[in-house]
Amino acid sequence: MRTMPGTTSAHGGMRPFGAVVPFEEARRLMLDTAAPVEGCDTLDLTAAAGRLLSFDIAAPFDVPGFDRSAMDGYAVRARDLATASAAAPVWLTLVGRARPGGVFDGVVGEGDCVDIATGAPIPVDADAVVMVERTHRDQGRVRFTHPAAPGDHVSRRANDVAAGAVVLRAGEVLTPARLGVAASFGLRTVQVRRRPVVALVSSGDELLEATTHDGAPGPGQIYDANRTMLAAICEAAGATVRVLPLVRDAMAHWRAAFDAAAGADLIVCSGGSSVGEQDFGSDILAERGEVIFHGIAVKPGKPTAFARIGQQLVLAMPGNPTSCLSNAYVLLRPLVRHLAGLPPLHEQTREATLTRELKSPVDRLQFYPVRLEGTRAIPVFKGSGDVTSLSDADGYVSVPLGVSHVAAGTPVLVTLY
Ligand code: AMP
Ligand code: MG
Repeated sequence: MRTMPGTTSAHGGMRPFGAVVPFEEARRLMLDTAAPVEGCDTLDLTAAAGRLLSFDIAAPFDVPGFDRSAMDGYAVRARDLATASAAAPVWLTLVGRARPGGVFDGVVGEGDCVDIATGAPIPVDADAVVMVERTHRDQGRVRFTHPAAPGDHVSRRANDVAAGAVVLRAGEVLTPARLGVAASFGLRTVQVRRRPVVALVSSGDELLEATTHDGAPGPGQIYDANRTMLAAICEAAGATVRVLPLVRDAMAHWRAAFDAAAGADLIVCSGGSSVGEQDFGSDILAERGEVIFHGIAVKPGKPTAFARIGQQLVLAMPGNPTSCLSNAYVLLRPLVRHLAGLPPLHEQTREATLTRELKSPVDRLQFYPVRLEGTRAIPVFKGSGDVTSLSDADGYVSVPLGVSHVAAGTPVLVTLY
């Protein structure tokens, strides 16, 4: 475990960072510390899309539960059409109609046929369906010009799923198709893994709540941008979000916020995570729990800390909106998906050519935001504090440790956000 020297004591003034952890190690430490949440919710099928099934589901009965027609046409006894051809057509007598939802309970005798629609049960004496396109009807008789074989265009009972077969398995994501299977078993609800609860804390004396102020902020004030961005990331990654009130730069406020976050699986904080004298985020972590790391060799987002308080995890990120959001994509999103029990996100990448030189600190991995125009990657980073740095970006270019610049014209791989 690496902690920043000085974070465990009350202090005044600046506390320099100790050893920062490499980015990949930070991500690995986070995922190793976190375990998928336990417990389940019972949800209506219509509210369960994207959730993870808690238990296997076996078919309670055969689906379909009866032999049914796969075509619109005529149900026949195949042997009656053994000799049918264009040159020597066979005429059968129409004795009734079979429609989905009903059962034709008459007799289909030798030389008889029944008008049948897709999905209707096959009459007991019939064994094949001839599609309507291959027939000609005249009054009460139907002409056939092709032979039929038993089973033609018949979907057999249990052909889709036999009673007792497990077709939905614990841990699977409920895709539309899997929800359709559950629905075809007549289920109204399913049990799914509960979502992790994430409590969001934004800190800073300068922050304003959007709901209590309209118009331009007063001198030195800004509206909180981070909780909104973090809520969107967390929800998309499978969490339920609890937005806590703004936290002022005072230990008492931080303590109250962490008390209010009781019961959350993860507390995500922005602001106050660095080493300034107002940065109580570091102090509360040291006071309440076990700091797993503080400081990552990454740009933006270096003053990021990760801690455990009993069963709860805490990710404390810098308040600069770009730093906060960049880390949210690359660290918070994988963490929340892991807590939710979801598989790791498959990152989407594009090959492109850099339009302008990038500069990067040699001692940090940099995630440099770029906009894609065709195969051109246009750097859009303005500053860590600029909220539009990422709103103009489609993804980022990773500039590894030890690289100080990437020349214009270099082919790069852009990872989409
Ligand atoms: P801090 O990490 O607290 O040192 O804040 C770094 C910078 O980010 C400062 O300029 C803050 O005003 C700004 N900032 C902090 N929190 C937020 C927030 N929630 N929304 C927008 N900007 C913020
Ligand atoms: Mg601050």
